[in-house]
Amino acid sequence: MSIKPYKTGKPMDELEREYGISNSIKLASNENPLGPSPMAVEAIRKNMDTLHRYPDGGGYYLTAKLAEKLGRRTDEIVLGNGSDDVIGMLTRAFLVPGDEALMTLPSFLMYEIMVRTVGATPVTVPLKDLGVDLDGIKAAVTPRTRMIFLTNPNNPTGTIITQAAFERFLADIPEDIIIVIDEAYIEFAADDRCLDSLKFVGPDYPVVTLRTFSKAYGLAGIRIGYGVMDSEIAGYLHRIRQPFNANSLAQAAAVAALDDEAFLAETIKTVHSGIAFLMDEIGGLGLTCFPTHANFFLIDVGRNADDVFEALLREGVIVRSMSSYGFPEYIRLSVGLPEENRRFVSAMEKVMK
Ligand SMILES: *Cc1c(COP(=O)(O)O)cnc(C)c1O
Repeated sequence: MSIKPYKTGKPMDELEREYGISNSIKLASNENPLGPSPMAVEAIRKNMDTLHRYPDGGGYYLTAKLAEKLGRRTDEIVLGNGSDDVIGMLTRAFLVPGDEALMTLPSFLMYEIMVRTVGATPVTVPLKDLGVDLDGIKAAVTPRTRMIFLTNPNNPTGTIITQAAFERFLADIPEDIIIVIDEAYIEFAADDRCLDSLKFVGPDYPVVTLRTFSKAYGLAGIRIGYGVMDSEIAGYLHRIRQPFNANSLAQAAAVAALDDEAFLAETIKTVHSGIAFLMDEIGGLGLTCFPTHANFFLIDVGRNADDVFEALLREGVIVRSMSSYGFPEYIRLSVGLPEENRRFVSAMEKVMK
């Protein structure tokens, strides 16, 4: 009963019926505005004929491809039904009641849900200047701390952890605490100072890097993500994961998506130019946008964010109100296609009048 159910949005057709709108646009879940990688879609089509077979439980081709891309060994990679699934494996493998797991407040809701599911205790540390407060997290470590969740770039604020700051942090953290670095948006981070967490993955540190195909690769609907970690940690996760947790279409799609370099480049370009356009236009409306390293950013709307959310919805534009994240006057906007971005700006202009 201590777990609040994850609040998913209503299906778009349902919302449209309810509000009597049509052609609405969803800029709420940080999804890829270009759609899925076309090469991934083609791979899914090709693999549909073998849906009567169980998936390859070892994820042979995808793991091999990832290992090659990342310059890692295959025994350092664990596939998941989305990176959410890997978070669940980590908490099940390493946390028992009485253990504490540190995370920021606010943070990605799955950390808290998974930690509570195994009876362990989430301990939250407020953000500082909208970023991850590594000193605050360090100060919150107790003898019960077993796991730390860091999100880089951070959701919902878009800030990054720098390599230098992380190095200082790591030096002071006891060696038996698992440090999970969730890099769901890492493909969008273009800043040279950004932490390269894979550098720390290996026998020297219990650092686990989480990545996903849900955002930059446009495959949120088919559910595929992975963790990179020392092979000993990976060995524990393999013991407890469901043997067929990465479905066959997802594996085929992800292999193809990794080859679709043109799509990834186009995605990043679309997001970066979209951010520049949106920040300029929204700034022109007299509103403050916060700098970002991801495919979304926060806007200070200077009034009740739930009301702005509702008003935008009536204009057919779906964003995320940050009121439940402790920012009663902020909304989070995911970057869309150029025409969607323009529609957001017009709707915002109307709503803020
Ligand atoms: C979107 C997102 C994920 C991705 O989750 P999947 O289960 O891989 O779809 C993970 N972490 C954060 C912080 C996210 O925003």
